[in-house]
Amino acid sequence: MTLEPGTFGSLRELNRLRVVDALRRHGTASRSDLARLTGLSRTTVAAVVADLQGRGLIVEQAQPDGRAGPAGRGRPPVLLRLDASAGAALGVDFGHRHVRVAVADLSWTVLAERFLELEVDDDAESALDAAAELAAEVLAEADVERSRVIGAGMALSGPIDRHTGTVGSTVLPDWAGLQAGRELSHRLEVPVELDNDANLGALAEVSFGAGRGLADVVYVMMSSGLGAGLVLGGRLYHGASGIAGELGHVQVRPDGAVCRCGNRGCLETIASTGALLALLEPAHGPDLTVRGLLDLVDGGDIAARRLINDAGRAVGRTLADLCNHLNPAAIIVGGDLSAAGESLLEGIREAVDRFALPGAAQAVEVKAGVLGDRAEVLGALAVVIADTDRLRSAGLAPLRTSGALRG
Ligand SMILES: [Zn+2]
Repeated sequence: MTLEPGTFGSLRELNRLRVVDALRRHGTASRSDLARLTGLSRTTVAAVVADLQGRGLIVEQAQPDGRAGPAGRGRPPVLLRLDASAGAALGVDFGHRHVRVAVADLSWTVLAERFLELEVDDDAESALDAAAELAAEVLAEADVERSRVIGAGMALSGPIDRHTGTVGSTVLPDWAGLQAGRELSHRLEVPVELDNDANLGALAEVSFGAGRGLADVVYVMMSSGLGAGLVLGGRLYHGASGIAGELGHVQVRPDGAVCRCGNRGCLETIASTGALLALLEPAHGPDLTVRGLLDLVDGGDIAARRLINDAGRAVGRTLADLCNHLNPAAIIVGGDLSAAGESLLEGIREAVDRFALPGAAQAVEVKAGVLGDRAEVLGALAVVIADTDRLRSAGLAPLRTSGALRG
């Protein structure tokens, strides 16, 4: 199913989103270009443009002769663009073993980005401090004043309680019970929106990646942790308390290895990067990295390919059940392991075809994400840039997209 006008929010809000989205993709466009690109009538486009101009989110591009419009008969049409200087957003992604920080303007252009390898799980304070330092660095590099930052999105590899904003469960021992968003907000001096990393990866792939235009998508993040982000009916689905999509802690082997969540035989204990590296240790030693594993797969190493394929099958077996429950149009595979390509995707596809209902298996396309390991940080940016209330408080357009995705 693709998104049709009216799928979410009011029609007027959706029309605003379509116009802003077209400008994000094309940079500049005339009113008639916008009508063509969005499928909206010229009258509707004119009304939406007037509204957005009034709020300072889009501006007219100066014509070559210096006039800004309006265009009369015979003159070139007035070109419109998003006013990037209206603000900026920060995105912060905490993986289990890295922190990635990016700053983008409101036209979604990433201006600067930093990546740091770091043991995140065991020391929340240090990880938060490191993120604040990286944020200062990207703002300096992009020459963005902190006062222009309208907010930061934060991705974290653990379940977030939607009611209290605290990090739940025992998955991240040093973060459990922490108001992680508030902690980062203190350090960055901007409002912070916190969400699970797989959820934000899903948001990014559906907004501008492999799931563009799809309303029902399961995004699977396969890295040192394993999680899923669910987009259902065009919206990110969090569940009653924020646990939805904890794919990595579905038990697949009752007598299996003990997982960091405290349970046994979770999917994460057999299909995460750590589990795969441990299995390859007898052949390749303790110093093999994820990059090294991917190079082995690339180079045709039979054991590495078999291992990746088996990991795909194990994940696919669990996803097959999810396909029966949710009937998604696509399974999008992201995270570090997605770079393994066909060896992984084939394993997932085979298990989904074998174990899901034929109708559910036929409906779902299994494919790699296109945003790679940047999906989560891009989703963190998206959650700020598309947030209505934040834009409104910054004096910008009331684009109410909270929880919804751009079609
Ligand atoms: Zn577990």
